[in-house]
Amino acid sequence: MIIRCRLPEAIGNSRQFHEEWTAFLIQLETDGGLFGWGENTFLPHAVSAHVRHRLLPALMGKDPTAVLPLFRAMERTVGYDRRGAAMMAISAADMAIWDLAGRALGVPVATLLGGAVRDRVTAYASGPFMRRGPDPYARYEAEVSDYLKAGFRAFKIRAGIDPAADEAIIRRLRDLAGPDIAIALDINQGYLVRTALELDERLRGLGVLWIEEPIQPDDIAGYRFLAGKMHAPLAGGEALAGLKAFADFLSPRTFDIVQPDLSICGGFTVARAIAALGEANDVPVISHTFGTPINFFASLQLAAVLPEHRLTAGLGYPLLEYDVGENAMRQRLPITPVSADGTVAIPDRPGIGFEVDRAAFEPFIVEHWEEHL
Ligand SMILES: [Mg+2]
Repeated sequence: MIIRCRLPEAIGNSRQFHEEWTAFLIQLETDGGLFGWGENTFLPHAVSAHVRHRLLPALMGKDPTAVLPLFRAMERTVGYDRRGAAMMAISAADMAIWDLAGRALGVPVATLLGGAVRDRVTAYASGPFMRRGPDPYARYEAEVSDYLKAGFRAFKIRAGIDPAADEAIIRRLRDLAGPDIAIALDINQGYLVRTALELDERLRGLGVLWIEEPIQPDDIAGYRFLAGKMHAPLAGGEALAGLKAFADFLSPRTFDIVQPDLSICGGFTVARAIAALGEANDVPVISHTFGTPINFFASLQLAAVLPEHRLTAGLGYPLLEYDVGENAMRQRLPITPVSADGTVAIPDRPGIGFEVDRAAFEPFIVEHWEEHL
């Protein structure tokens, strides 16, 4: 099904404002009544068609716990598009297969991935976003104050108006938050290489956690140039799909932090390979997480098994991206709250650990189909 959630107020980044967001959700079901959920948040209509007409015929009637054979069967349906919509469709189906396999075997996905090495993960507030008006950063200090009160010890602002404005807001937020709170910037592909270098120069000494996606997401030459020049850690990867795309950025080493989105990169099957590539290159891999609670809970399972990397101020990787936005879906389908110490509990329930009430999605469904064996 395709769902749409209107936002109470438009939120923006350096490229665009969003009035709503959409997602494709798939619920795979066995004849025994077991189910598994998957999501793609980026290209819902293309993904919906691809899942329905290309992937499901390869999955129907097969053992739902055979996650790797099922992934290979889906992969064989893709000839020409290993980095785009086809891989996003595989991501949604693969997420649902791992969820279903966990539920069938009575274990969390983290157990299928080798076993959880932690039961809590530190969350970073994914905000503030820009608002319409003369100063898109006008509410940043008020919103960050709310995050700090809620317990967050890290947050990520949407930036990229121009390097001087970015520097000014970071200075104000550093004064507000103090030295022990981690502050990251997401440029959302808004700059050119030279602008990114100017921003990096202006932020020297301000203790920035990372600068994310300063340029176009697949500009490998640009990112390699930046990686050799920048002082702040360079992060990216949310827009990349397929293992080869990540391999290009990890060898030679380019990103300092790699951010695959489970609903885009190829699901758990590809994400665990990306995590292995990151481990081999000593680069932290943390998930990019936006969308419905299904991607959130899937990302928690991945966070349970990722390697530990220390940061300053008592923080460390992995970190969990946490959508702090208010919307109608959040009210009906809450995600796990952040504790006073800034961490989120990782559920020890079968599958991705989210007891989804399908009825809760009803007000948001704009397209729906079913296929039966
Ligand atoms: Mg981003």
